[in-house]
Amino acid sequence: MKQFGLNIWGDDNFIRKEDTININYANQPSLLEITKAIREKGYKGPLLLRFPHLIKKQISTLFNTFEKAKKEFNYQGDFHAVFPLKVNQFPNFIHALIDVSQAYNYGLEAGSKAELIIAMSQTPLGAPITVNGFKDKEMIALCFIAAKMGHNITVTIEGLGELQTIIQVNQEFNIDVKNPIAPKIGVRIRLHSSGIGTWAKSGGYSSKFGLTSTELLEAYEMLNKHKLLDHLWMIHFHIGSQMGDIAPLKKALREAGNIYAELKKRGADALGAINIGGGLAVEYSQHFNNQEKNYSMDEFANDVVYLMQEIAKNKKVTEPDIFTESGRYIAASHSVLVAPVLELFSQEYHEKGLRLKKVNPPLIQELYDLFTTIKRKNAREYLHDALDHMESLLTLFDLGYIDLEDRSNTEILVNLIIKKAIALLKNEGTDELKRLQDRIQEKYLVNFSSFQSLPDFWGLAQQFPVMPLDRLNEKPANPASIWDITCDSDGEIGFNRDLPLYLHDIDIGKEEYFLAFFLTGAYQEVLGMKHNLFTHPTEAVIRFDEKGHYHIEDLIEAQNLTDILDDLDYDTNLIDKALKYRIEESQHISKEEKREILGKLYLYLSENSYLKTIQAISENQ
Ligand SMILES: *Cc1c(COP(=O)(O)O)cnc(C)c1O
Repeated sequence: MKQFGLNIWGDDNFIRKEDTININYANQPSLLEITKAIREKGYKGPLLLRFPHLIKKQISTLFNTFEKAKKEFNYQGDFHAVFPLKVNQFPNFIHALIDVSQAYNYGLEAGSKAELIIAMSQTPLGAPITVNGFKDKEMIALCFIAAKMGHNITVTIEGLGELQTIIQVNQEFNIDVKNPIAPKIGVRIRLHSSGIGTWAKSGGYSSKFGLTSTELLEAYEMLNKHKLLDHLWMIHFHIGSQMGDIAPLKKALREAGNIYAELKKRGADALGAINIGGGLAVEYSQHFNNQEKNYSMDEFANDVVYLMQEIAKNKKVTEPDIFTESGRYIAASHSVLVAPVLELFSQEYHEKGLRLKKVNPPLIQELYDLFTTIKRKNAREYLHDALDHMESLLTLFDLGYIDLEDRSNTEILVNLIIKKAIALLKNEGTDELKRLQDRIQEKYLVNFSSFQSLPDFWGLAQQFPVMPLDRLNEKPANPASIWDITCDSDGEIGFNRDLPLYLHDIDIGKEEYFLAFFLTGAYQEVLGMKHNLFTHPTEAVIRFDEKGHYHIEDLIEAQNLTDILDDLDYDTNLIDKALKYRIEESQHISKEEKREILGKLYLYLSENSYLKTIQAISENQ
């Protein structure tokens, strides 16, 4: 697994060059080079790197694939897309997204008032805005304000109550107005076919959202009565996120398409768009036997265009414009989390740790001989002998016949023998060998918080591709589990023998070793929790100039200690005073020392809460 599954999840975004993982774009810098350049500026701890060129790639692939499908089927409707803000609202991401999407008239989707304000202020006039989710009167009023600003905004109603509010707000905004302006109206339909996966509740009959057919007919009549039928223009559904299988989407498309056609035939003349929500899946897997999706972008676009055309033809209505709101697909690949390894809890099972005596107990001597003479041919037998000897030696220790040094030698030798045997027998892959890997797994302490940076790992057991930034010429041999620096035992990505991760054996006292977590750009940032008060990591945007050189821009450092406490609504002035008072009044500190200690304290308060290092430079250096 030298490639760490790069050919499964990488989508050609990254490339291995010699022993590093590099960006497969422009001058192809390595992630290590970029990481070091940022660390040299004094930013330690985990780093979130954003790559706008990858946002652009996803957006252009989405549009180009649908344009291709439209051409192929000679489809008459237009294709549009919006980015659902809930997937990532961070300014460095959104600014980059708006910047790279100009050619596509790409818009934003909002699901709350705060998101709507982002959409109203960031979306270029004319690019679509869609507004979903539950809305109160104020939120609907904001939609009217957006429409009056000149925005191309569609407000999707999720229930009849919202429609009543729209009618009311329309009267308030447009009474005595010469040129009445209102947002376009969409209706979210409650599908008979259900959603899929972890997020199944987004679609289907028990969904939180959407109108039943009976409610749809009622909505139609209300709109007609209040002269708003000419604003009804979109049918909307969203069947759930990360759909691994395309079949439920096809079902939903048939259902939604027929609803579109039926309403149109009834007299909803302005109706002209079908919004298929999000759900396009991302391949997160590092293992061939565990892939997450079963369709390509081409298949997805072809299915949508073909099915809509078929329904329109059969029911003799015009082919609707197609909208998508895929977010995960657009955002996931753009960011990479790089985190330094702080320590290996190698149970110090190195040959140099042996404390062999002039005369050792016979079983230990035998273990040593097994260790030095193990070969492929005898590996299984020697392995079994070693395990057997270990049992005997541990019993001897319990009975007081051997000492602590002998026991330590036993542990080291058996561990080394297991490692050697696994390496020698690696092509056999038996259950026994897999089980033994658990036993020799290495725990890597990594300077990040999984709660903050990979919350979906914690909440949904979502895997994210992970690999080291360098040493890719060397075969990694340690079955690895990853520990974050929170003091929560859930903050561990355990070794999974069915989906194993192997990392290199390194001496952190002598060399740096960084792990990169990929595909972290969707959902992870805003869902991240400040568990243990670890905050959003330091982030930077990596842009390339015409010559292909990269530039580190828009650096935002992780919050410092004072700001973290301020966020929790502590009075930081009082904290400041309390700390100062305690130092000044302390009987244990001399006057000269006081100044120095205060200086240190203020320095620490101005820094972020991630760790610097935990090992002093190693003793033998
Ligand atoms: C969450 C959501 C999306 C985005 O879903 P992805 O799986 O990220 O593509 C789109 N539309 C609606 C209405 C949503 O709630």
